[in-house]
Amino acid sequence: VTFRDLGLSDEVVSAVASAGYEKPTPIQEKAIPYVLMGRDVLGCAQTGTGKTASFTLPMIDVLSAGRAKARMPRSLIIAPTRELAAQVADNFVKYGKNTRLTMALLIGGVSFDEQESKLDRGVDVLIATPGRLLDHFERGKVLLTDVKILVIDEADRMLDMGFIPDVERIVSLLPTIRQTLFFSATMAPEIRRLADKFLMNPKEVSV
Ligand code: AMP
Repeated sequence: VTFRDLGLSDEVVSAVASAGYEKPTPIQEKAIPYVLMGRDVLGCAQTGTGKTASFTLPMIDVLSAGRAKARMPRSLIIAPTRELAAQVADNFVKYGKNTRLTMALLIGGVSFDEQESKLDRGVDVLIATPGRLLDHFERGKVLLTDVKILVIDEADRMLDMGFIPDVERIVSLLPTIRQTLFFSATMAPEIRRLADKFLMNPKEVSV
């Protein structure tokens, strides 16, 4: 199976080729077609399996038609740590290099000003840690009512770090009609309960 066989666009296929990837990993092979179909996905995968590309690659294609309005991102990826959020952003830049999609990274330890001016210009993809995202929301700098795709990455670590109340608050600010992709390395009962709450009729993929 090739990346092209999974239904990805030429723009994404060529970016992946420049990254030096020869073929999709198992999580990519399983998840990408469902994301392109618009389905919710519950993914059980560890770091190192290629899970980041399993959601970023198809998201690029789902978002490529359309344009973001000021302060209204069209998709949101939440990750538990600054490092992970920054890694997802690096991946996004690499895979989206043949598109005109815009991205902002909202993490602590970076000045609000730069993040806010990006939000003002409009971003297709917002990548954030929960606390920093809520800070921007409270300041009236970001609205989540235009989010069509939500990704919750490393849900098990969100739970361990005590971020679930923040995540629930964020999800309550999003439209109920949306596509949700939820990834976790484990499927403990508490994680599954959250998944049941956030996902609609999801396709389950695990590696
Ligand atoms: P992740 O599990 O998303 O943290 O990815 C782990 C590493 O695998 C990252 O360094 C990716 O750049 C790399 N990677 C992702 N997909 C592929 C692929 N299809 N072929 C080779 N490397 C990949």
